[in-house]
Amino acid sequence: MADHVVVLGAGFGGLELVTGISEAIPDKVHITLIDKSDAFMFGFSKLDVMFGRRQASEVWNPYRGIDKPGVEFRQETVTAIDPENRRVVTDVATYDADILVVALGADYDVAATPGLAEDGFEFYSFSGAERARDALVAFNNGGAVVVGVLGPFFKCPGAPIETALLVDNYLAKRGLRESSTVHLVSPMPAPIPISQKTSSALTAILEEHGIEYWPGSKVNRLDPEHHVAHLDDGRELSYDLFLGIPVHCAPEVVVASELVEDGWIPVDPATFATKFPNVYAIGDVTSAPVPRAGGIAEGEAATVAKVLIAKLTEDSDPLPYDGSAGCYVELGGDLVGRIDVNFLSYDTPVAKFTAPSAALSEEKQAWESARVHRWFGPNVS
Ligand SMILES: Cc1cc2nc3c(=O)[nH]c(=O)nc-3n(C[C@H](O)[C@H](O)[C@H](O)COP(=O)(O)OP(=O)(O)OC[C@H]3O[C@@H](n4cnc5c(N)ncnc54)[C@H](O)[C@@H]3O)c2cc1C
Repeated sequence: MADHVVVLGAGFGGLELVTGISEAIPDKVHITLIDKSDAFMFGFSKLDVMFGRRQASEVWNPYRGIDKPGVEFRQETVTAIDPENRRVVTDVATYDADILVVALGADYDVAATPGLAEDGFEFYSFSGAERARDALVAFNNGGAVVVGVLGPFFKCPGAPIETALLVDNYLAKRGLRESSTVHLVSPMPAPIPISQKTSSALTAILEEHGIEYWPGSKVNRLDPEHHVAHLDDGRELSYDLFLGIPVHCAPEVVVASELVEDGWIPVDPATFATKFPNVYAIGDVTSAPVPRAGGIAEGEAATVAKVLIAKLTEDSDPLPYDGSAGCYVELGGDLVGRIDVNFLSYDTPVAKFTAPSAALSEEKQAWESARVHRWFGPNVS
């Protein structure tokens, strides 16, 4: 009888995982893929929506398009995970898995930053990106824009820089740049702390665009009455528009399970096995020593696919995860740069920056289309 693999979360990690297993051993598995949403969106598409570059209808990829041997998609909300017994409860059914993979991503704790909900805009959720888009449209007279990273780790290390540069570009196009200031405040000591060279290149681009960059500082709270951001180093920053990357946390259902330690799921970074037999976790929901990014979640998923294929075919163990990924960075003016990282293969992590170009912008579009095609099939554009 086919083994029952239950995959929780059809994001970057879950989609790549089921694709990899289904391609290799469709007859040996029955995969149940569960997600509460009816469609997938790339994280970077939220920036496209926020800056009015794409319509909401253009960035959602419906799960009903998934047609893969051995894979069954269920749109349900996971309400309990029992890793000891590999049992999952949703709002609709209960599932018993031979192999369970948790790929539920990261959620946001907006309330962790007082004043953010009242007077700022988080743009990391889809609805938040839509609200931020409307606030940008209504920003008619120019003024002080602050982009603030509000927690110690967050999805996509390049995203705050992209956001500040896209704000710059957006305001310039509307003739509002001269009457505006753009600040970027981040607790990270540098744009990409593992590489001084890459960080210097990105800092230089921020400077060229007149963006005030305050690294190593974190906004602790907003004062909605006076529109002032209070930083943990005692500084204050007035704003007319505050765009925040909210504090991240594991989804509630994960926190309530026995999988979590210190807020996230610890895993073996070579295989993504948790401490529970035949239970794995990938992507943003783990505390693996790598950044939280789609390209990283995809690499982790490809590794777990190989681990499970080897296990189910009694083949030899695959190579461990190498921690490498390429990440495109939007730098405004339709130019895209690229950062290639490798976190686990060498003595120290590396990050190489490729300068922005229109060619990389095209490469990013091709990268996105290739994934949509791979995960959703040839009939979905
Ligand atoms: C603005 C922004 C820009 C970004 N830019 C980039 C970029 O350029 N490059 C890059 O590599 N990464 C980027 N990222 C990061 C990237 O999107 C994430 O790191 C990636 O999606 C993580 O993959 P994942 O599979 O772990 O989680 P996700 O892709 O978040 O998938 C998790 C899934 O779990 C589902 N889920 C959660 N809870 C439940 C539940 N209780 N029941 C059922 N389903 C549930 C969710 O609906 C979701 O589909 C960006 C993110 C943002 C927000």
